[in-house]
Amino acid sequence: MAAVEKSIRVEGLILTHQNYGEADRFVRMLTPDRGKISALARGVRKMNSRKAGHLEPFTVISAQLVQGRGSAWTISQVTTLEAFPSLSCTLESACFASYVAELADRFSDEDTESRDLYRLTVRTLRRLSQAADAYSVLRWFDFRLLDLTGYRPQLRECVGCGRPIAPQPQYFSLSLGGALCPNCGVLDAAALPISMRTLKFFRYYQSRPAADNALVGWPSELWVETDRILNAYFTYILERKINSSEFMAKVG
Ligand SMILES: [Zn+2]
Repeated sequence: MAAVEKSIRVEGLILTHQNYGEADRFVRMLTPDRGKISALARGVRKMNSRKAGHLEPFTVISAQLVQGRGSAWTISQVTTLEAFPSLSCTLESACFASYVAELADRFSDEDTESRDLYRLTVRTLRRLSQAADAYSVLRWFDFRLLDLTGYRPQLRECVGCGRPIAPQPQYFSLSLGGALCPNCGVLDAAALPISMRTLKFFRYYQSRPAADNALVGWPSELWVETDRILNAYFTYILERKINSSEFMAKVG
């Protein structure tokens, strides 16, 4: 048996898992100190596995990981610190939670301190598990995430010409990240139209302090327009589609 090279204890949030071999499973977790970690959970799909219940997506765990020479991390011991069982109760809440986990996954790296992203993600799942207004919680997450990752959109002055945005229909530039006045908007073929009302909600959610739980709900008549713009913006930033938001659009 190869000597154990490393053993670490981590706190982490399970983002996804994937079956591997006959009875094993790879789990991907987000940790505050080391960013994203993939680890193998051996035998976890056997009936009598004691680890299985701790390794479902959206569970906050404390785990002991070991790494043999040149091999992947393996989970040797795991306990649950916090679970959100209600997130798996309905297809809708599972979709919402998957969206949060997918974005956290895409915006995180391995071996990178990720305290703020970790805190935001766990907090959002906690709020989703309690909230009646899940849609507003997701948009709150989006704007915090854009701040944290350096993609905070500029919403008060035109990102093209710098002039203040007047109260009239505008455009949203994906490449410049923010509102474009009608004059500049027609020059940017990829820019999306945005109504003044939706732009005001963008500003309002962007300006809320991180700890603010008492948000004015995002009006449902603006959801389609909002989703179109935010999905396009995240897709542009990440250079790939968000699978869970496409799925949400289908079931929703
Ligand atoms: Zn302009």
